[in-house]
Amino acid sequence: FKVPQADNEPMKHYAPGSPERAALQAALDTMKQELPFEVPCIVNGKAVFTGKLAKQPIPHAHATFLCTYHEATPEVVDAAIAGALAAKKEWELMPWSERAAVFLKAADLISGKYRYRLLAATMLGQGKTAWQAEIDAAAEMADFFRFGVKYVEQLYAQQPEKNSQGVWNRVEYRALEGFILAVSPFNFTAIGGNLSGAPAMVGNVALWKPSPMAIYANYITHQLLTEAGVPAGVIQFIPGPAEEVVAKAISSPDFAGLHFTGSTFVFRKLWKDIALNLDKYKAYPRIVGETGGKNFHLVHSSADVANAVHQTVRGAFEYQGQKCSACSRLYVPKSLWEGGFKEKLLSETKAIKVGDPTEWGNFLGPVIGRFAYDKITGYIKKAKDAGGEFIIGGTADDSKGFFVQPTIIVTKDPSFVTLVEEVFGPVLTVYVYEDGDFEKTAHLIDESTQYGLTGSIFASERKAVLTASNILRNAAGNFYINEKSTGAVVGQQPFGGSRASGTNDKAGSISIFYRFVSARSIKEGF
Ligand code: GLU
Repeated sequence: FKVPQADNEPMKHYAPGSPERAALQAALDTMKQELPFEVPCIVNGKAVFTGKLAKQPIPHAHATFLCTYHEATPEVVDAAIAGALAAKKEWELMPWSERAAVFLKAADLISGKYRYRLLAATMLGQGKTAWQAEIDAAAEMADFFRFGVKYVEQLYAQQPEKNSQGVWNRVEYRALEGFILAVSPFNFTAIGGNLSGAPAMVGNVALWKPSPMAIYANYITHQLLTEAGVPAGVIQFIPGPAEEVVAKAISSPDFAGLHFTGSTFVFRKLWKDIALNLDKYKAYPRIVGETGGKNFHLVHSSADVANAVHQTVRGAFEYQGQKCSACSRLYVPKSLWEGGFKEKLLSETKAIKVGDPTEWGNFLGPVIGRFAYDKITGYIKKAKDAGGEFIIGGTADDSKGFFVQPTIIVTKDPSFVTLVEEVFGPVLTVYVYEDGDFEKTAHLIDESTQYGLTGSIFASERKAVLTASNILRNAAGNFYINEKSTGAVVGQQPFGGSRASGTNDKAGSISIFYRFVSARSIKEGF
């Protein structure tokens, strides 16, 4: 058999008066009426109410909670490991067609029955506008599963070229021995689905610890995976504090791999903790992580200014700058900056409407929570103290929700704090370079941070594109030409970076699946 041709999920645009806008509005209204929800752990297909309660606040109205959830205790983690290993026996030996069908059905549930609930939960719980939620919880998540199935088929088809007389050589892609720990972030609902789902597609079982700030949308994801046919125990949903849940999981001898998206700091800590447990494990664990970034837009004097400005505003401010891929540093030549770039950038930024992301027309919602708000406003303060020139924004208000105004800071210091450190908020720092210093500036970008996630060159001269591309060859795992640094699409731009930004195993591509299988070569003589 062949799995169906994978196509990207067609996006809905939620235009005024459209049926999809009415459907999403109805889902939002119902959710607002019914909240707060109660979310248990799901272990072996059963709800576990541990009574150890925590809450997921709504970032635009933080006095309200989207859900109360039950945190996993160490005993629950133990039960989840035992149950997952038991479930694995059947799951990994299930014919591939059956596992493929489960994930194809999951994709259809996302694009159909679950779409508006997923979007509503992502908008309310993670502060996304309808469009940002559509890109994520509907399109990207359905794409991860549909293309994932296609990639797994391609992986399994990788077979030895040659058989000698009387011999049949083949390779079997076995699931890893043990369980995978999936630790997912708040900023993309789809990433939670992929971190737990991708290893499961190739026959693994997973313990899934979602971000405390994305519990409800991730819980709905788990529900739809169950409805699609993921058997009990194959993906265990265990929210809870990292220090307990994660520490417990990685101290198990059956820990076989980590599938992580989150901060560089946490990933490094986990890697070190895993190293300390190494002697216990049955096999060397696979460690796959996508972490921080300090993504750049480098503008050349030959660039189309209107495009560079527009892409920068979108790259820097969509979803409040909380995509790992968000553009947070902009390098512009003086001739363009003074010749209209600055004015255009200011007028586009001024037009941004900030507010409740569930209200139509707002472009910029709240940042995710207290910790993020304090960190971002802390950076704004540091930038003010260090003498940065604020050309717009720099203010914030947390009286009702965690709102930070889109902020642009200009600096002459190439190692200025917000030009080199990850802020993860709607803060763009601009460095204006002398027109003759293009190459020097590219080197500066390359050398001034430890990250290597995404970045863009804006130029119409091919030579400038080539120069930037060569100098910045290790500075961005996703490199864009005349396009913003965000918005990688599954099946189109495999996503991930290297250096301090991750292991670059490329979500949304075949590469990721190689990390979660252990090949067995078989030679059979006749
Ligand atoms: N893949 C997303 C993008 O290209 C970013 C994912 C992330 O924030 O981790 O914008």
